Amino acid sequence: MHTAYISHALCLKHDMGSHHPECPARIQAIEDRLIAAGLMDWLQRYEASEATHEQLLRVHAPEYLQRIADIAPSEGMVALDGDTLMNPFSYPAALRAAGAVVEAVDLVMRAEVENAFCCIRPPGHHAERAQGMGFCIFNNVAVGAAHALAVHGLSRVAIADFDVHHGNGTEDIFRDDDRVMLCSTFQHPFYPYSGADSGNAHIINVPLAAGTTGEDFRAAIEQHWLPALEEFRPELLLISAGFDAHRDDDMSMLGLSDADYDWITAKLMAVAERHAGRRIVSVLEGGYELNSLARSVLAHLKRLSGF
Ligand SMILES: [Zn+2]
Repeated sequence: MHTAYISHALCLKHDMGSHHPECPARIQAIEDRLIAAGLMDWLQRYEASEATHEQLLRVHAPEYLQRIADIAPSEGMVALDGDTLMNPFSYPAALRAAGAVVEAVDLVMRAEVENAFCCIRPPGHHAERAQGMGFCIFNNVAVGAAHALAVHGLSRVAIADFDVHHGNGTEDIFRDDDRVMLCSTFQHPFYPYSGADSGNAHIINVPLAAGTTGEDFRAAIEQHWLPALEEFRPELLLISAGFDAHRDDDMSMLGLSDADYDWITAKLMAVAERHAGRRIVSVLEGGYELNSLARSVLAHLKRLSGF
């Protein structure tokens, strides 16, 4: 069993300021934990390439891509929204983040690895077709899904999003494209205040109240996600892997534990085994308490890699 680990040094250079929770230390904490556990040597490591204009254009409006290129600073910082900033490394880092998912899709589709984890930032699932927001510039997981459809000829791709925030960007991009199923669990009402009533046959939104426990989370997945995924029979499973629903993460008020991330990973692997030739591409989204983030990614990757 082989698992790819894809990142790029530029993902550590994108920096939105010393008090911003979406910080380079997130990747350092994850990598420290993977090294300490002896898992890093078990993974096949790759450097992300830049996503091409053509790859980004499949999910983003041309005017938006032009705007990002135009405002990307050569010094100082510019704000995309109230909490999404760009420093001189943000644009190239965002291109590598999206490119990592494209590369991961190519690797699993060519059966060079069974699954892949993209340890990247900026994250992506809040980025809509024509608007970045919520720490996200390009919708990395959506770029990967669109690449699988366009280049690898797939007709059914699923995205499982267990970040504590609704994947509004991914929904915005694929709402009218039933080749893509999005399953999203999220605290509600909570940022970005979408998703509670916007689902359809292939957008499976599962709002969870503040205080939801790991046990309740598992029951919701069993009730809503798994039957939908079984019926959809995805040929490739992507994961928007945010770890900010962890009980130690004060970004949210859900009560997940390390063990819940292991559990959901195993459940998604079972879906991929039945329908997708085991192909999974997991993409880092949120997760802001560094210790629980690193432990949860370790649990996720131990399960994915069979370590
Ligand atoms: Zn989040």
